[in-house]
Amino acid sequence: MKPAPFKYHAPQSLTELVDLMAELEDAKILAGGQSLMPMMNMRFVAPDDVVDINGVSELSFIERANGSLRIGAMTRQKDLLASPEVKDAAPVMREALCHVGHLQTRNRGTIGGSLCHLDPSAELPAIASLYGATLTVAGREGQREVPMEEWVLAYMMPSIAPEEVLVSLSLPVWLAGHGYAYTEFARRHGDFAITGVGALVELSEGVITKAALTVAGADVKPTRLTDVEQSLAGQPANEETFKAAGAEARKIDAMSDTYVSAAYRQRLADTLVQRALATAADRAVGGE
Ligand code: FAD
Repeated sequence: MKPAPFKYHAPQSLTELVDLMAELEDAKILAGGQSLMPMMNMRFVAPDDVVDINGVSELSFIERANGSLRIGAMTRQKDLLASPEVKDAAPVMREALCHVGHLQTRNRGTIGGSLCHLDPSAELPAIASLYGATLTVAGREGQREVPMEEWVLAYMMPSIAPEEVLVSLSLPVWLAGHGYAYTEFARRHGDFAITGVGALVELSEGVITKAALTVAGADVKPTRLTDVEQSLAGQPANEETFKAAGAEARKIDAMSDTYVSAAYRQRLADTLVQRALATAADRAVGGE
């Protein structure tokens, strides 16, 4: 199939982009095109205007400042995977990116596209949720910040107006040497995951002092396990603790669809939480 006819625009600056989006009635932003183009070719979306932002170079950056890692929306997934800043400040993002599609799709795909396309099992929204990231959006009234937990309004519906643009996201950096893990279960490598889990831990003498856990693919948005995180603080980093966390994770809300039942997704969350915590705890004490 081919897309319905559309008018093509290629702004070269954020100012030009914001002004253009404020004028156009029915426009879609084109970033890496790895989700939008299949959706247009299958006629799921048929915008009158396509606004190609690949020329807006100010939207592509990775910078570490004031205890945060800031990433521009147009930053390619492949550049995040290769970035020394990401490797150092957010190694779990790098591990998650290895599960995102294929080399070819990562060459074009961007973090902003992933956050705005919002497939429930997409890895990058799960990582943004794991860090409690803050997203910056620009529109005709200026810029505004959206906490990641408020970003997903409904199934594949981000908290962004049609004329707005996602500019960047900011992640708080954890202590050097913290433990991390991203693991998932998919039918085949490169497929969208059925369920995925991201974990971060800080340990002191074998005891968990801080933890973060998020589950992707169970619900329409990544599920942050805040109660489980609080129950982990002060616990020994051992199998019994991880089993108890997995049992709690099994209680999350999960969706059923033609492929997978809610019960199966909950069972996967249990198993993957245990595995992710064990790997993160091992890495926190210098394991590989
Ligand atoms: P586009 O496709 O260009 O845009 C996606 C949507 O976001 C569109 O609605 C667009 O208008 C909007 N948008 C993009 N940027 C902005 C912005 N800055 N502001 C406002 N709106 C914006 N993804 C995964 O997470 N995991 C996978 O396992 C996975 N497997 C894949 C396998 C294949 C074969 C393919 C083709 C894709 C796969 N993807 C997967 C999707 C891929 O990661 C896409 O790159 C990503 O979902 C969208 O990023 P993009 O830059 O290509 O965005």
